[in-house]
Amino acid sequence: MLRRLLFTVAALVVAVVAFGMLFAADVADRSMNKVTTPGPYRASPAAESLLQRLDVVDLHADALLWDRDLLERHDHGHVDLPRLREGHVALQVFSVVTKTPRGINYDRNTDETDNVTLLAITEHYPYLAWFSLRERALWQARRLRNAAARSAAVGSGVPELRLVRTRADVAALLEARRSGKGTIGALLATEGLHPLEGRLENLDTLAAAGFRMFGFTHFFDNEVGGSAHGVGHGGLTPFGRAVVQRLDSLGLIIDVAHGSPRLVDDVLALTRRPVVVSHGGVQGTCPGPRNLTDDQLRRIAAGGGVIGIGYWDGAICAPTVEAFARAVVYAVKVAGEDHVALGSDFDGATTTPFHASAMAVVAQSLREGGLSDEQIGKVMGGNALRLLATLLPAR
Ligand SMILES: [Zn+2]
Repeated sequence: MLRRLLFTVAALVVAVVAFGMLFAADVADRSMNKVTTPGPYRASPAAESLLQRLDVVDLHADALLWDRDLLERHDHGHVDLPRLREGHVALQVFSVVTKTPRGINYDRNTDETDNVTLLAITEHYPYLAWFSLRERALWQARRLRNAAARSAAVGSGVPELRLVRTRADVAALLEARRSGKGTIGALLATEGLHPLEGRLENLDTLAAAGFRMFGFTHFFDNEVGGSAHGVGHGGLTPFGRAVVQRLDSLGLIIDVAHGSPRLVDDVLALTRRPVVVSHGGVQGTCPGPRNLTDDQLRRIAAGGGVIGIGYWDGAICAPTVEAFARAVVYAVKVAGEDHVALGSDFDGATTTPFHASAMAVVAQSLREGGLSDEQIGKVMGGNALRLLATLLPAR
């Protein structure tokens, strides 16, 4: 009798704790990924009609970190398939966040603490992913593949989400969209290369899992090099140099967002291919440790690269559509219209002016900022698609 009572109490405690933890993950998601205006969003007829002619590409969102079904529309957060469809998004880059320091800030962070461990436990990541950053990245990639598979099932009621790995996939995606299927492409990326756990062979493991864009650092210095928000502000390590060469030889894409200035210099000097800054801002409209100087903008553009401009305060100093347009117009002026793109940082613990369905508002803001429709087409997707169509492996 006593044993049964104890068992019942224990089961109840486990249930309450499990429920509480799930609830905590949801509370974190809701409180960390906000919009200043919930929508629905209205834009001018000219901007709406321009959007219908565009294949929008966004170079950075962290939606895979959260326990949210991408196939369903949510009243919180920024990205899911229904909202991507409303935003006429052709391709979304999904980045995996695997470790973030406690007390995260833009100036100085170490690798000694981690918030994602608790999230991994509360969101029921596989046991190995509680401890291994590589396993966390692979688990989030599985979340994306799982969403893609379910979206393709008959009667899913949502557009097909398709993982893009090759140039041929990009061409097939655009063809599917031309035939009116509303297919949405997804490209896997890393937010920092700490999931390599210091081993080059893990790069091949991630590539095999579908990863195609590799952000080198996140908020702390790691095995490949220095973060803009780390301690040492160093460049590439010898291991980081080997990673650049391996990525070049595999035909994979380098992303220097969050990199220290020395790391950006080292990568640009070493790689033989264009690089991406998936999400950030420009010092010219918003000074700050993670935003690009005019000199960096020019050098990244000279190498054929593309810079994604975000919507949150760290990138543009105020989460407003006007501040976003100012940053884009500035970047176009300095780097050229062929080298600027969208890099939302949606769902990256950011507050943004709107969520993924508001792309007509984005188009309108760029028109009001003085860009031509042709330039807007390049910024909102054309430049990123050109880059993917040249940089990804052929097949
Ligand atoms: Zn980031």
